[in-house]
Amino acid sequence: MAKNDSTSNSYKCSFCGKSNRQVNRLIAGQDAAICDACVKICVDMLETENTNNETATSTELPKPKKIYSILDEYVIGQEEAKKTLAVAVYNHYKRIGQKKRKEDVELQKSNILMIGPTGSGKTLLAQTLAKILNVPLAIVDANALTEAGYVGEDVEDILLALIQSANNEIAKAERGIIYIDEIDKIARKPGANRDISGEGVQQALLKILEGTTVNVPIPSSVHQQMQEMVSIDTKNILFICGGAFTNLDKIIEKRTKGSKLGFGADVVSKDDKDVGKLLKNVMPDDLLQDGLIPEFVGRLPIIVTLDPLDENALIQILTKPKNALVKQYQKLMEMDNAELIFEEDALQAIAHEAILRNTGARGLRSILERIMRNIMFEIPSYEGSTVCTITKEDVLLNQEPVMKFEGKVSKLRAKG
Ligand code: ADP
Repeated sequence: MAKNDSTSNSYKCSFCGKSNRQVNRLIAGQDAAICDACVKICVDMLETENTNNETATSTELPKPKKIYSILDEYVIGQEEAKKTLAVAVYNHYKRIGQKKRKEDVELQKSNILMIGPTGSGKTLLAQTLAKILNVPLAIVDANALTEAGYVGEDVEDILLALIQSANNEIAKAERGIIYIDEIDKIARKPGANRDISGEGVQQALLKILEGTTVNVPIPSSVHQQMQEMVSIDTKNILFICGGAFTNLDKIIEKRTKGSKLGFGADVVSKDDKDVGKLLKNVMPDDLLQDGLIPEFVGRLPIIVTLDPLDENALIQILTKPKNALVKQYQKLMEMDNAELIFEEDALQAIAHEAILRNTGARGLRSILERIMRNIMFEIPSYEGSTVCTITKEDVLLNQEPVMKFEGKVSKLRAKG
């Protein structure tokens, strides 16, 4: 406690006990005082604490190569996207862990825009990144968003989704990832007078993308009918926006026409590979032409493009990733003492059918569900082991696969 000796008019440092005559400066409060030397000791202590925190973050943070190799276990193809994302999220979390000094260069936040066809792995990449970094993830659909005050979700609801994914731990949510899908659906609509679902939403998103403090009402943990207001800072939240941008290839083609495509370009129809190649040349201006506003594009400085998936990639998706669909069905069957075999050309036929559906890898699951429906209905009722082989014909002709029960062969034909 500062001791005010009115006779000698002296104060003492409450920490070291030295008087104002023994130190350079003494800062006095109402009931306490501190000298310059003790202030310095305190600052050093706080800095050591920060350094310790920082070390903890940087040792936990996987390096880009590690992030890439884990992404590789789950995501087939999309090599460039995996590399770019690995570097981008590494830098993002390094920036958060950075020890801040006044004179330091300020590292700006770099949100990410993923451009690629439906079912090419955009959401899967965001999900896998959140898993690798062990941070909460919220996946929201831009279609549902409207400008504040209109029927639909306010952009603040996005933050509520993240807070809930972090089990209401605000500090955790503040380091999370928000994936906004179908971002191309909030493009500006030409001629729209009061554009509540397009430009208005982009405007509303600007602030949270950049970093701001938002008050979000969350359901109270004490009273279900009541709400609590929590304050969340978005400056360290990583926003990843994704969309198919189906017009973008034409916009890029128009811009680059003459220089790259050359003579006859008009009459050559584009296949998926050409579209993928064109998208790699995307420039911010192309996005403006496609209806995004400049401020919005400016807040998504990292652009990642994904390739359309060809038949080969789809076959790999069926079998290779850690949680590949075929592996999942095999596991399910194994639990009922059954071995499930997919012949090579059956896989090819499934991939081919998915291509025809034009929904990327999304179609694979429903095709497999159809093939597996009766098998999964029958097999659990048999005691003893079963072997079930899926052939190309089973896929193409929609017929029931052959099931071998303990050596006997039983063919269940589709009824009608
Ligand atoms: P998008 O967000 O691009 O529309 P998703 O990431 O939701 O597509 O993909 C749908 C499903 O298809 C995923 O859950 C995953 O099972 C599978 N899938 C899509 N792309 C890939 C890929 N490149 N590698 C592995 N699986 C994929």
